[in-house]
Amino acid sequence: MTELLLKNVRPFGGPVTDILIRDGRIVRIGAGETGSGAVEDGGGAIAIPGLVEAHAHLDKSLWGMGWHVHQAGPRLEDKISTERRLRRELNIDPARQSARQVALAASHGTTAIRSHVDIDTDQKLWCFEGVSATRERFRNEMDIEIVAFPQSGLMIRPGTLELMDEALANGADVVGGLDPCGIDRDPKGQLDAVFHLAQKHGKPVDIHLHEPDELGAFSLEMIIDRTQALGMRGKVTVSHAFCLGMSDRARAQSLVEKLAREDIAIATTAPASRPVPAAAELRRAGVRLCAGSDGIRDTWGPYGNLDMLERAMFIGLRNNFRCDDELDHALHICTQGGADVMELKDYGLREGAFADIVLIDAETVAEAIAARPVRKLVLKRGKPIARDGKALFTVE
Ligand SMILES: [Zn+2]
Repeated sequence: MTELLLKNVRPFGGPVTDILIRDGRIVRIGAGETGSGAVEDGGGAIAIPGLVEAHAHLDKSLWGMGWHVHQAGPRLEDKISTERRLRRELNIDPARQSARQVALAASHGTTAIRSHVDIDTDQKLWCFEGVSATRERFRNEMDIEIVAFPQSGLMIRPGTLELMDEALANGADVVGGLDPCGIDRDPKGQLDAVFHLAQKHGKPVDIHLHEPDELGAFSLEMIIDRTQALGMRGKVTVSHAFCLGMSDRARAQSLVEKLAREDIAIATTAPASRPVPAAAELRRAGVRLCAGSDGIRDTWGPYGNLDMLERAMFIGLRNNFRCDDELDHALHICTQGGADVMELKDYGLREGAFADIVLIDAETVAEAIAARPVRKLVLKRGKPIARDGKALFTVE
């Protein structure tokens, strides 16, 4: 039996209390707890559950590889083909780069990650195998879910579907998809293939949908139709869904109602450069919303650091959240929202849950998001995985 007593902490910025952890789970929360094992004094820090990175690309960062001069563009297709070429030229090794990102995410308080992983006819399963190795290597430090993601298109690259099928048979958790009109120009073909794979393997779906306005709405309705027809309510996520930020608000609202009906979740990065789904609107309609960093410091662009507290700030900025209760909602999206989408069992800051806990020196959750202090302590199932902003495990 291993025991850890977290003393003098304030769950979500509330009153000071103690948290007793035994064998990786929170057994009691209450002032004056005593334990027989190790003790950590939180010194009045806020305690929140582990942050959830619900949309990452662990296979593709250049983190730790020196500065890359970005010249790819301007179209999505340019960035995709540039990346396919540079992967081998620069040796962007998916195992090494995903391990670096796991350490980076842990240092910021993340304890679970959903990662899309490129599968195409050039890389074949290289990226999937690299991230799978990282998942196995850090299975005590991070929950990692892998989405088999046809980044270069599914219908326009024959052979990709078979590779995705193979990845799903070998441990990929989720079936990915991508702009069925914009990239494949065959929405029926791609979506039927994606949902067929999901049915075959009994896995959920997570589709990147960058398509704007009416084009995105068209694809989204096709996703909703298939979710309904196949009884996949609650098993589908649409990432980005920029079309929900369209200027025709009545049209967007009708889509949001359909998403709520089929319990289709949305994953957002809250980018400054694109219209996005409105967090408050989704919440009112009962649509689940989670968040992620997307690709960081990769051949697509120079930004990102896998800090989900910073992502909560971006959600706040993008949605004009100024009140403390709105920032509480932003944190909810970056914690419970992601846990719901990843279907993490026994998640949360409550007795009986796994002790995935982050301590932050701040008065309130809103201050933590606004100031983003280094994370004082990060626990994964009761084990410290980061302290004072640094991961406690090393990667090369
Ligand atoms: Zn993405």
